Amino acid sequence: MKKLIQEIAHFKKNLSEEGRALFAQLALGQKPEALFIACSDSRLMPSLFASTHPGNIFVLRNIGNLIPPASSSPYDSSASAVLEFSTFSLNVSDIIVCGHSECGAMQALARGVDGHNCPHLGSWLKHGEESLNKVRKGLSINPSLSEHNQISQINVLQQMQHVISYPFIQERVEKKQLRVHGWWFDIAQADVYCYKQDLHQFVLIDEEEANLIANNLSCL
Ligand SMILES: [Zn+2]
Repeated sequence: MKKLIQEIAHFKKNLSEEGRALFAQLALGQKPEALFIACSDSRLMPSLFASTHPGNIFVLRNIGNLIPPASSSPYDSSASAVLEFSTFSLNVSDIIVCGHSECGAMQALARGVDGHNCPHLGSWLKHGEESLNKVRKGLSINPSLSEHNQISQINVLQQMQHVISYPFIQERVEKKQLRVHGWWFDIAQADVYCYKQDLHQFVLIDEEEANLIANNLSCL
């Protein structure tokens, strides 16, 4: 905690003139390009690997990068509210669901949750159970990965389906006003992958792939 506090003082002291001007401008409003849905895991820093700046992306983070499907209980309204706000108020053109390797949520799904001490965690992870079941039935994108990493990759696709289950999202996707992408971050290699539906694979986003994506946004 001490380091966090020190970093705040450091940030304020070292903020450049451009940085001050950017924040002054951002105070007037935001126009982020994308909604980024990621896990709460401390090792996942989208602003670091995507070099984003304040105002670039609207972010939803929760355990396991889960989105309750549209048909789920109204008690899970936090993530659904983010989808509504991003769509109707911010009018984002892209939604990225980003999973990652060594995800504690996927490991908890695989081994089961201590429902006595963590009833809310157990309840929340139900939104990832389909991913677990699919892998246990033999569905995988990369069978050479550990089981929890296979679940994590399948979970990216599962949560993309959950995102698209909302009628207002589906309508915009069909009208090509909105794209939904699946990314996966490999912590050990610090590599980011993009899911390609035609290959049914996660493809490394290197310079060449980044150009391809920028040219035709072919991730879905
Ligand atoms: Zn995670």
